[in-house]
Amino acid sequence: MGFEEVFPRSLKEALEGVMKIPTYGERGAVRLVYNLLKLSPEERISVIESLRKAAESLRPCRECFLLTEGDICPVCSDPKRMKRFICVVEESQDAYTVERLERYRGVYHVLQGRIAPLEGVSPEDLTVDKLLERIERNRVKEVIIATNPNAEGEATANYLIRLIRDRFPKVKVSRVSYGLQFGSLIEFADEVSLEKSFENRK
Ligand SMILES: [Zn+2]
Repeated sequence: MGFEEVFPRSLKEALEGVMKIPTYGERGAVRLVYNLLKLSPEERISVIESLRKAAESLRPCRECFLLTEGDICPVCSDPKRMKRFICVVEESQDAYTVERLERYRGVYHVLQGRIAPLEGVSPEDLTVDKLLERIERNRVKEVIIATNPNAEGEATANYLIRLIRDRFPKVKVSRVSYGLQFGSLIEFADEVSLEKSFENRK
């Protein structure tokens, strides 16, 4: 009896499937799949079912790339939100962190990542072109860069600040990272320090 017969085919396929998710290597896939299998069969199916629903219904907003179940996200379609203020974040979860404060009345722009030369991620891989197009089309007054306060987030922020100041000298560009600990991720920042960082922005 060889390894092929011992190692279940469905397990092999599940691990290979998870490894298609960005940043999930073999170790990540092993952790996810083996831990999932510790749940009862009913619980497993319910987890998978919720993932299936999310996979089927979520897509990036046509305007700001925030994950949404429709074509346009609730923020962009809200007439009360100020379209001339754009808060730039790396991922949708960063926008939700800001949104939870219920203080920000502008709109968002999700970059879908950050500039990471070591991983081969350049500005062209992000939604930068669409951001510039929105700044122009909506005659934006202020862009608030809220990328994560780590090395890559800072580099991305500096790149965007230079680009926007160059193309749109009249647009105010500010960086929020005040009160956030360098190296920590914005999604883990406690809400008070994030709130302060919004109040302190220059
Ligand atoms: Zn949107």
